[in-house]
Amino acid sequence: MSIDENENAQQPGEFDLIARLRRQVAAHPWVELGIGDDCAVLKAPGAGSLLVTTDMLMEGRHFLLDDCEAEDVGYKAMAVNLSDIAAMGGRPLAAFVAVALPRDRAAGLMEGLGRGLIGLADQFGVALAGGDTNAWDGPLVISVTLLGETGPRGAVTRSGALPGDRVIVTGPLGGSLLGRHLRPTPRISEARILVDAVEIHAMIDLSDGLASDLAHILEESGGLGAILEDVPIHDDARRAAERDGRSALDHALSDGEDFELCATLSPGDLARLRENSPSGLRIHPIGVVTQEPGIFLRTAEGGLEPLKARGFDHLKGARR
Ligand code: ADP
Ligand code: MG
Repeated sequence: MSIDENENAQQPGEFDLIARLRRQVAAHPWVELGIGDDCAVLKAPGAGSLLVTTDMLMEGRHFLLDDCEAEDVGYKAMAVNLSDIAAMGGRPLAAFVAVALPRDRAAGLMEGLGRGLIGLADQFGVALAGGDTNAWDGPLVISVTLLGETGPRGAVTRSGALPGDRVIVTGPLGGSLLGRHLRPTPRISEARILVDAVEIHAMIDLSDGLASDLAHILEESGGLGAILEDVPIHDDARRAAERDGRSALDHALSDGEDFELCATLSPGDLARLRENSPSGLRIHPIGVVTQEPGIFLRTAEGGLEPLKARGFDHLKGARR
């Protein structure tokens, strides 16, 4: 929908850009009709429920083109949506991509975006099935909508946590803004291993930071709380701590953009999972869900310290 080709005769127009993208997109069993018509026609496998998610990245807010390549932006726009499908325990099917391109750099940016988008989509068997392409005098904006199918036991929501559940995460946390945040690995296969192996009660992907994302699970599950005992700290969190004087644990608790999964499950299921230790999955048990609201940290001395006192409120305000 509409780059005016007359405004700049040297620049390729909307249809050229779409045609170039289309040539890079392979046939896909779920796509009866893909890029090129007014709508895509999808053959959703089975007749189960569909997962649908959208995320938008805006230049100047979510990324700076001085710090990264258009390919990174395309990769990340796809990755954050894949991460949302993973958080529901689903399998991604087809993506739709809407872009607003800065007019003077439209072709180069679109090519880079396409590389990042299609590279990651191919890796996860996702069809790039449609979208919309515009150019303007504003910054780069990209929005990806991703469809997925639910897992064998339906969608895993945020709202199913129970008191006594164990809380797990799929990897060490914190410091992702030192670079890792550009290329997060969507935990699609980890989520599938989890939901196939045991009954996951609640799950979320860590985009805003453990403290804030775990709070979403606890609130949605009827106002529960949690005690955190052993939060795995990423090396990047230690490096970030050396730079800014905050503790590495603070980074692990409050930094965003880890894109690991945080899930809750019964103690029995956690034990089962750890006995079988399925390959391709790292599980870090980090604590327990409590009836009492509030998130607390178990200190080295065995006491409980409320998380809020560690300042995640003001850090939340500092998030990009
Ligand atoms: P319409 O006239 O229906 O608005 P467009 O001219 O916007 O269609 O798009 C033509 C075709 O190209 C459609 O199939 C659309 O889904 C696809 N398309 C446009 N932009 C993109 C994009 N950025 N990524 C993937 N597909 C796209
Ligand atoms: Mg049309």
